[in-house]
Amino acid sequence: MNAPSRTGLVYHDRFLDHDTGVGHQERADRLRAVTARLRSSGLWQRLQHLLIDQAEEEQILRVHSSEHLRYVREAVRGGSWILDEGDTHASKESYEVAMLAAGGVIAGVDAVMGGILRNVFCAVRPPGHHAEQNKVMGFCLFNNIAVGARYAQAAYGVKKVAIVDWDVHHGNGTQEIFYHDKSVLFISLHQFPLWPGTGTREERGAGEGLEYTVNVPLPPESGEEAYVDAFRRDVLPNLDAFRPELIMISAGFDAHRDDPLAQMRLTESSYGVLTGMMTQAAETYCQGRIVSVLEGGYNLEALAGSVEAHLEMLLKA
Ligand SMILES: [Zn+2]
Repeated sequence: MNAPSRTGLVYHDRFLDHDTGVGHQERADRLRAVTARLRSSGLWQRLQHLLIDQAEEEQILRVHSSEHLRYVREAVRGGSWILDEGDTHASKESYEVAMLAAGGVIAGVDAVMGGILRNVFCAVRPPGHHAEQNKVMGFCLFNNIAVGARYAQAAYGVKKVAIVDWDVHHGNGTQEIFYHDKSVLFISLHQFPLWPGTGTREERGAGEGLEYTVNVPLPPESGEEAYVDAFRRDVLPNLDAFRPELIMISAGFDAHRDDPLAQMRLTESSYGVLTGMMTQAAETYCQGRIVSVLEGGYNLEALAGSVEAHLEMLLKA
């Protein structure tokens, strides 16, 4: 009999209860497509399924202001369906579901930092990387990956966390949260120009955090070769200089060639290639520790296949 795998999955049916309304791209069907694919491919049985709880307010407040937390809670409970600039929708369950998404990443950090598992993929929603300290934005209520990074620092004394964000959109929220901070290296690869319009090479952090924000804007139609080059030129050397104790991935899959929100050319197998580069780096610097967190990805087939390729490679690590 094979030894149990050391790759974990964070998923909960409750994530389906964040209802963004008819026709919205960031919809519950995204996770239904992912879990159906994991079941049909047999990956579901090979993964360790983590038990998760809602994040505690204190854990959210390491990243967001108390005004932000209160705004999300009261807006949602008060029946406000459209938050902020109009593209971030919510339903009456959304506060609890968002707290559970952040809590899912915390459970992933616990499993990896506690040495129970080698790596974990968190199939959560709502996504997080556009949410700033004080701002709901771009389908994101709380910045799940930032909450996880701060938790790793607070609970496990991790000094250096690297966050690699390969979602096709710039991770403006994560950048804003850690812009002045040298304990979190933030590297974003994204299509440029594209919404939200930030993420130029000139944005490099500030104060103590100068050089700990690395933006890699890529032109539309960039494919696997451009991404692999960017990893070799920008991602890996920065990881090497930083020597992270934990690597986190803002894993959006919307740079896939079939994604409706962007114009990049990655395929399912490209995500396996990029994941392999990350598992190698994690092996070199931090005993293989990776916590990967779902962000975007809006073509259901492309998303499901790309998550499958990502997890296949995490399982091989
Ligand atoms: Zn995205």
